[in-house]
Amino acid sequence: MADVRDWSEIERQLVNAGYPLQEIQYVNQYTQHLVDEQFYMDTNIRECRRCPLALGCQGPVRGTGSWQADVMLIGEAPAAQEEAYDLPLIGAAGQLLTWALLRLGVDRRRLYITNVVKCRTDVNNRQPTMDEIRCCSNAHLFNEIAIVQPKVIVTLGNPAMWAMRSEGSRLKISRERGIWREFNGIPMLHTYHPSYVLRKKQDGWPAMQEMMVDLQNAFIQAGMLQAPVPA
Ligand code: SF4
Repeated sequence: MADVRDWSEIERQLVNAGYPLQEIQYVNQYTQHLVDEQFYMDTNIRECRRCPLALGCQGPVRGTGSWQADVMLIGEAPAAQEEAYDLPLIGAAGQLLTWALLRLGVDRRRLYITNVVKCRTDVNNRQPTMDEIRCCSNAHLFNEIAIVQPKVIVTLGNPAMWAMRSEGSRLKISRERGIWREFNGIPMLHTYHPSYVLRKKQDGWPAMQEMMVDLQNAFIQAGMLQAPVPA
């Protein structure tokens, strides 16, 4: 890379100026990490044709946000708007999530947000099958987790939870939400998908309160928010 030679020269000048060598050398590692991440996203995900969903979709939708995020949110699969803009969770449900995050004082760009299945399932946005969930999470999701190395994982809805648990589709989000679990040593919380929350907006909207509580607990666990002081 031509710019590496350029950086070597700057590196030498910074060392001569008395700045710590270790910090300066870290920039090389960091830059390589960024290049690897981008390469991974552009080739492994964008060009993926591993399962039949590739035939009917406009292209897999990549994760978004920070690769250095402390919290990773995992949704279900893209719908029309997500597919059109190559961004997960930006339709009505995604905007509800963005609003909930802002209410909690968290900008979604500080998180890493992705879907368990990267291709749209069909025009009706049907729930992905267990085979599709397994195929796509083995191909991409688990690699994304390995790259991001979040402090906390939050799954949104049933399919994302099924991908992360050996019990798979035997689990129901109504029973599992709000209970701390682990994935490869990373604390993990399951909560509702915001599209479910949107459908359950009657009777004081308890699903919204529960999703907000789960998200808040996840951010507290990751050190992004302070725990409320007991009264
Ligand atoms: S759903 Fe996942 S595994 Fe299947 S083609 Fe799309 S990106 Fe690849």
